[in-house]
This record gives sequence, C-alpha cells and structure tokens, in this order.
Amino acid sequence: MKHQQCFSCGAPEGMLHFEGRGETISVKGLERRVDDLSGWECQMCGEVELDSSCSDRYDHAGDELVNAARRMIGEEIKRVRRKLNLSQKEAVALLSGGGHNAFSRYERGEVLPPKALMLLMRLLDRYPHLLVDARTLAEGADLRGFKTTAHKEHETLTTH
Ligand SMILES: [Zn+2]
Repeated sequence: MKHQQCFSCGAPEGMLHFEGRGETISVKGLERRVDDLSGWECQMCGEVELDSSCSDRYDHAGDELVNAARRMIGEEIKRVRRKLNLSQKEAVALLSGGGHNAFSRYERGEVLPPKALMLLMRLLDRYPHLLVDARTLAEGADLRGFKTTAHKEHETLTTH
C-alpha cells in the first residue's frame, strides 16, 4: 500500500510512501546529512512520519549534532573567557550569574548557554575593552542586594 489516510489532517489517501530520501539536519550552523530514509508524507499538510526502521537513525544523528553544537559553543565560551583573563568563578559573578559552576557546565558542553550570554561573549570577543565598562556597570547593580518592604495594605489585599 503506497497511500494511506493522513493521521494529522485526515486527508483520505493523503499520505504517500517515500524511500531513499536524504535529509540534511542543521543545528546552530552544523549540518549532517542522513541518507536512505523512508516513511510517509502527506501531500496535503506536509506531515512526515519516518518508518521505524530509520527514525532511530535520524533521531540519533540529530542528537549527535546537538551534542556537537553544544561542545562547539562550549569551546567558544572558554576561548573568549580566557581571552578576557577571567576565571570561571569571575565569569559567573560578572557575566552569567547562576550557580558557581555554571560556566564550567557551559564550557564542557553539558548545558547550552542562554542566548543573551552568547551574545555578550561574542560582543566582548569583538570589543574586549568593554569588559572595563561591564565591571563598572555590574557594581551595585545586583538586584539581590535590594531590600523589599512588605506593606500592610498588600497583606489585606492578598487575603481576598
Ligand atoms: Zn495531512
């Protein structure tokens, strides 16, 4: 059977079986081609379901690519931090916040750093002299240093 009803949009005979297809997965600028894929594709809505014989292979290639991308970004983070002469601890305190081992986890590729941190690291890579400004701006800007005051009015409001 080369046609079947689409399980997504319900089009009768919408899904057509394909074989021998190659697909390129791309993650953060890294690419990997996976060949010999077979499965079903809906001609109406574009829904694709790979045959179980090759979906594991496809998922595995995707996972490997994500891991490779994390390692690559980790290497980049480490290179820029060293260029700025910061220890991992200083980099956490000044740039990322978070747990004391946040930077070491980013650099080992265990965790993908937040987009804002990547942008900051790339800016500092390009304009390293801005690190001085970063230090100045960071001083006294830690919100955890602020005290909060609870008002009686708010307490009565929250009881409703
Ligand atoms: Zn469909």
